[in-house]
Amino acid sequence: MFRKVTAVLARLREGVLGSLERRLLGALILIIISTVALQVVSQSRALALRSESEDLGTSISMAEHSGQLLKLVVRFRLLSHKAAGTADPDAAATSDELTDAAMEIGQAVNNLRLDGAQAFDWSSERAAFEDLDRVVAAVMAPAPGSNAGEDRVDAMLAAAAILAEESQLRRDKAYAQLERSTHDWHSQVIVIGTIILLVALGVLVDVMRNILPALRRMHGALHRLAEGELEFGIEKFKLRELNALSIPLETFRRNALQVRNLAFTDPATGLPNRRAFIERSTRRLRKTAGEGSAFVVAFDIDRFKFVNDDYGHAAGDTLVRLMGERVLRFLGEDALIARVGGDEFAIFCTTADGTTPTTLCSALAAHMRKPFEFDGYSIAVTISAGFIEVAAGSSDDINLLLNRADLALYASKREGRNRVTPFTDDLEDERDLARALERDLAEALTTGELRVVYQPIYSASDGADEVEALVRWRHRLLGDISPARFIPAAERSGLMPQLGAWIIERALSDLSGWNGLAMSLNLSPLQLQQDGFVSFLLECCRKNQIQPERVYLEVTETISIERNTRALLTLELLRSAGFRIALDDFGTGYSSLCMMKTFDFDRLKLDRSLVEDVGTNATSMAVFHAAVNMARQIGAEVVAEGVSEEHLVATASEAGCTHLQGFHLSAPVEANMVERVFAATADWKADARGPATDPLRCAAA
Ligand code: C2E
Ligand code: CA
Ligand code: CA
Repeated sequence: MFRKVTAVLARLREGVLGSLERRLLGALILIIISTVALQVVSQSRALALRSESEDLGTSISMAEHSGQLLKLVVRFRLLSHKAAGTADPDAAATSDELTDAAMEIGQAVNNLRLDGAQAFDWSSERAAFEDLDRVVAAVMAPAPGSNAGEDRVDAMLAAAAILAEESQLRRDKAYAQLERSTHDWHSQVIVIGTIILLVALGVLVDVMRNILPALRRMHGALHRLAEGELEFGIEKFKLRELNALSIPLETFRRNALQVRNLAFTDPATGLPNRRAFIERSTRRLRKTAGEGSAFVVAFDIDRFKFVNDDYGHAAGDTLVRLMGERVLRFLGEDALIARVGGDEFAIFCTTADGTTPTTLCSALAAHMRKPFEFDGYSIAVTISAGFIEVAAGSSDDINLLLNRADLALYASKREGRNRVTPFTDDLEDERDLARALERDLAEALTTGELRVVYQPIYSASDGADEVEALVRWRHRLLGDISPARFIPAAERSGLMPQLGAWIIERALSDLSGWNGLAMSLNLSPLQLQQDGFVSFLLECCRKNQIQPERVYLEVTETISIERNTRALLTLELLRSAGFRIALDDFGTGYSSLCMMKTFDFDRLKLDRSLVEDVGTNATSMAVFHAAVNMARQIGAEVVAEGVSEEHLVATASEAGCTHLQGFHLSAPVEANMVERVFAATADWKADARGPATDPLRCAAA
C-alpha cells in the first residue's frame, strides 16, 4: 500500500511536478475548478435558500393565520356559550356577533387556504369550518336534545388548535432549515475559499521557494559560463524545462573545458602552458591576500641545444617532460608549474611557510642537477633561474612579472649559467637600454656616430708592432657606449654582419696607410656564419693591398660553446687563406682549454682578469704560467691583455708572453694618432728607455 502511494506520488512528481509548464497549468486548473465549484455551490445554495425562505414566509403567515383562527374560534365559542346560556332579548345582538365571528372565521380559513394550500394536508380540519351559517343557526336555535351546535364548535376549536400547533411546528422547522442551510452555505464557501487560497498560496510558495531559486541558479550558471568559467558542474534540475537546458549546457561546458584544457595544456609535459599560467597565477595572486608574499620563477635548462644535438630531439622532449615531473614532485601541489617555452618553465609560489624564494630556487636548482636516467641514458643538466617576489594579493600583471623573472633568468645566463638571480630594477633599465641601442644602431651606421680606434699591441721581443681595431660609438644622447654593450645588441638585432663589415672596411682601409703594421680584428661568431664572409674579407684585403698574414682574427670561445661547426669551418678556411687566428679572452670561460683542442690557434690572448692579479695572487700566477706554457708548447704566440701597470710588463715578459697590450703601454688611440704612437715607441726602443709614456696616453681614445 505504502509502496503504491509512493509510486503514485513519484509518478505525480514526474508527470506534473517535474514540469514548470504542467505545474503552473495544474495550479491554474485547480484554481479554476475551485472557483467554478464556489460559483456552483453559491448558485445552488442561493436558489435553495430562496425557496427555503419562501417556505419560511409561508409557514410564518400560516402560523399567524392559524393563531388568529384559534383566537376567533375561542371567541366564537365564548359567544356560542353566551347565546346558549341566555334567553334574553339581547340574544339577537349575540346572533349578530356570532354571525360576525363566523364570518371572521371564514375569512381566516380563507387566508389559511391561500397560504397553506401546499403546506400540509388539513382537509380533515378544514371540514370543521364548512357551513358556518349552519353552525351559527344550530348554536342560536339548538334542536332539543341535540348538541350538534356545541359539537361543531368543539370540532372547530379542536381543528383550529391542531392547525395552530401544526403551523407553528412547521414554521419552526422552516426556520431551523433555513438556519442550517445558511450555516452550510457559509461552511462551503469557507472551505472552497480556503482551498483556492491554499492553492494560490501553494503556487506562490512553489514559485518563491522552488521555481525562482532554480531559475536564479540557472541564471548564475549561464553567467559563469558567459564569464568563461568552466570549472564547475551544472546541476540537474527537477523541473523538466530547466533540465532540458541544463543537460546541453553541461555538455557544452565539458566540451569547452576540454577545448580549453587542450589550449591551456602543454601536450608534451601535460603541464599548463603559458596562457594557463598567466590566467591561473593571476587568480591565485589575487586570492592570496594576507598570505605573506608570492613569487614568480622562470628557469630553463642550460645548453639544452646540446642535449638535442647529442641525444636527439626525442630525448630532449623526454628530458623536458621528466624535468616537469621532477619539479612538480619537488614543489608539491601548492605551486603552479607551467612549461612556457621549449625548455623554459615558470613557477608561481607563495612563501607562507617562511621559505625565501632564493632558498627555494637554490634547492630546486640543486635537485635538478641530479642526473635524469631514461632510455639507457644518464643526462645531467643544470638550470638557470630568475625570480621576482611580489606582495601576496597584489594586482600586478603576471605577464609583467614573468617578463621580469625572464630578465633575471637572462642575467643568470649572462653570469655564466647554473645560477639563480633575483629581479632588480637595473635589469629592466639594462633591457630598455639594450632595446634603445638595438633601435639606434642602424642609424648610427650612417650618421657617423661610429668610429674605429686602435690599441697598440707590442712585441715583447722587439718583433713587429701591431694594433687591435676596437669600435666606438658616441650616441647623440647617451654619449660613449661600450662595445661590450652594443656588440651584443647588434648580435640580437641582426645588425652584426652589417656592423662587422663596416668595421672591417674601415679598419683595413686605415691599415692600408700604415706600412709594416699588423692588425687584430675582433670577430663575432655571427660574422663567421655569414654567407660569403671569407670572400668578403679577402676582397677587402685585396682592395687595400693588404696581405692576409698581416691580419689577426680574434674570436672567443663562444664559437665552440655554441658548437658552431660552420663558424669553425669558416675559421679553417680563413686560416688557410693566410689570416692568423687568435683565441681572445683566454681564461674567462670554462672551455678555453677545450677550445685549444678544437682549433689550432696562432695566438692566445690572456684575458686581463688573469693578467691584472698576477703580481698579487698566487693562483692567478699559477694559471697564468700554465696558460703561457701551454701556448708556447703548441707554438702559439701569447698576448697579455690588460697590462695596466708598470710591474706587469716585466712579469708578463718574463713569464714568456710574446706580446703585451694594455693601458700602461697605450690606451686605444684614434686612427690619426697610430703612426705617432709607433714613432714614439720606435724612439723608446732605440733609447731602450721603456714603453711609451704620457704623451701617448694623453692621445688615447
Ligand atoms: P677585447 O677584444 O678583449 O678588447 C679589449 C678590451 O680591453 C677593450 O675594451 C680595451 O679598451 C680594453 N683594454 C685594453 N687594455 C686595457 C687595460 O690595460 N685595462 C683595462 N681595464 N682595459 C683595457 P673595449 O674597446 O671596451 O672593448 C670591449 C670588448 O668589446 C672587446 O674586448 C671586444 O670583445 C668587443 N669589441 C670591441 N670592438 C669590437 C669590434 O670591432 N668587433 C667585435 N666583434 N667586438 C669588438
Ligand atoms: Ca679582442
Ligand atoms: Ca680580450
